[in-house]
Amino acid sequence: MRNLDHHTIQISLLEGEVSIQLSKNRSVFFRSNELQNLTYSQFDFALLAAFISSLTTGEKLYFDHPVTNVALRQFDNYSRALRILSPKQFEAPRIMCSNVIVPDVKNNRSNKKILTLSGGIDSTYAASSTMLEDATYTHCLLIKGFDYPLDNTTGFNELRLRVEKIADDLGLQLIVLETNLTDEFSSFGLQHTGALACCLQLMAGAGFESGAYAADFTAMGDVLRAPWGNCMGIASTLTTDRFPIRYLGSERGRTEKIRWLAERKPGLFRYISVCRKEKSIGGNCGKCEKCARTRIGLMAISDPRLRNEIEMSLFGDVSSYRDAFRLNAESLKMARLFDLSVGLPDGEARLLATDEIDKMIANQKRIHGMLKRKRSYTRIARKLVGSGLRKLTPWRLRKEGALQNED
Ligand SMILES: [Zn+2]
Repeated sequence: MRNLDHHTIQISLLEGEVSIQLSKNRSVFFRSNELQNLTYSQFDFALLAAFISSLTTGEKLYFDHPVTNVALRQFDNYSRALRILSPKQFEAPRIMCSNVIVPDVKNNRSNKKILTLSGGIDSTYAASSTMLEDATYTHCLLIKGFDYPLDNTTGFNELRLRVEKIADDLGLQLIVLETNLTDEFSSFGLQHTGALACCLQLMAGAGFESGAYAADFTAMGDVLRAPWGNCMGIASTLTTDRFPIRYLGSERGRTEKIRWLAERKPGLFRYISVCRKEKSIGGNCGKCEKCARTRIGLMAISDPRLRNEIEMSLFGDVSSYRDAFRLNAESLKMARLFDLSVGLPDGEARLLATDEIDKMIANQKRIHGMLKRKRSYTRIARKLVGSGLRKLTPWRLRKEGALQNED
């Protein structure tokens, strides 16, 4: 028997706000001026929010609002894929749907299409390159509550102005949406694209026919960066026939995106915001890992004057790319460096990047070798000293003389 008080999902549609009461103590809201006169024939967005939440809590949720058969199947695949990628992190979601419909997809044509735009390199490239080949997108969506927390006002307002400028240039109308959906996450890195898709699906009620969001990596980058939620495989589980969601920009790596933008849309760099660290200004600190990575990527711009101009407009100063390598070295990951190096022209910067990757691989190899040796020493030592001393660590073994000092 179901417990009606606790677990039947309630959805309320108000002017400017949609909220989903998932259970007694958990609710998700979406706020935007665009959420007016909403009409939903299906509630796939709320179903996806329920899956995202139940992946974290394992809570059993009853869903009586109509959802499409394809969405139910897709979001079930989505959840299973995340649990395969990170079994320890997620619970098996338990969602009971009583009203599954087969929608009439042919009657799903409006003139409104929306893509996400956060104002960074990936989404600016995705939006710019897509608008060149398919100018049917009419709106872009900036979400508050993901990278920028809901209580951040000054930084986010500046970011919003920047994104507005990019949207204007591309002929897109900007919609800003606030949501607390990240409260339901157990892993931002793995679940944030599900949440992006949820916000896009929400817009179906405001008359949109389809959506899109930007890839972080190329197909090869996906393989190297795994497990990561923004990959092609996960994207394939978030699109439905009632509300298709495209995955844009995976044909180019970060450096190639920078070069593309420099050649076709150099003016946009004044508004692009890549920084991960500094959220109080909505711009770029110039020093964090992501800013440093972007500086190295600028090496792909062949005209040195244009390169300096773009670096000035992004960071307010010009650094040697060698400085950027130094800033970057600590936190640089091999996959990111690989992604960067693929687009760099032959020359010193590319050599430095590939050298750095090879050094990291060698270091990993050394660590693996050490661990393997320590494990075999432990096995031999256990045999020697018998079962009473099973919990000997390599440190203890060294102390006992069973393991030679070796690092
Ligand atoms: Zn920064």
